[in-house]
Amino acid sequence: MKLVFATHNLNKLAEVQKMLPNTIELLSLQDIHCNDDIEETATTLEGNAQIKANYITEHYGYNCFADDTGLEVAALQNAPGVYSARYAGEPANAENNMQKLLTELKNTSDRKAQFRTAICLNLEGKQFLFEGVCKGEILSLKQGEKGFGYDPVFKPEGSTVSFAEMSSEEKNNISHRGLAIEKLVQFLKTYTH
Ligand code: IMP
Repeated sequence: MKLVFATHNLNKLAEVQKMLPNTIELLSLQDIHCNDDIEETATTLEGNAQIKANYITEHYGYNCFADDTGLEVAALQNAPGVYSARYAGEPANAENNMQKLLTELKNTSDRKAQFRTAICLNLEGKQFLFEGVCKGEILSLKQGEKGFGYDPVFKPEGSTVSFAEMSSEEKNNISHRGLAIEKLVQFLKTYTH
């Protein structure tokens, strides 16, 4: 079966392909020659994942899944959430986003936060949602150089180091996206018509 992952990120694609049985051929947006700018206009992660998956299924006719991730900070009423990529404005800039977050949380003792990934899968006319959550806290200073986005300021629960101090394998084992993808993969492995 061919299945489109509505992403341009080939690292994400390779990671998922490794976890799937080889009866499923994963295709990227490049593979189906889709360069369209799919606007993520929803106010929830699930909504944005659904917009992307539906766009591909409706315009290209493929079974497809899409993901959307946000950082939800308790003391900020779950902001930046669905707006995580452009928290400090356009164009998206990880450094500015982290500085804005640290400023907003200055003098705030409640540092609880979680990354949340929503995945929407369109499969043979049906739609399925999967979620992955990684709970943790926002550090007061950046720690580590690896990863991307908010990794240097996020320390997952039960860990002594930030996401940016972990290898990608260590991070994938416990991360929001890793957990959501694991649920998707388990579902696809057992899916029967
Ligand atoms: P996306 O939905 O995967 O594109 O994620 C949206 C935004 O959330 C990214 O631009 C990052 O700012 C942030 N983000 C998502 N996943 C991670 C992560 O694993 N670590 C740090 N930041 C992330």
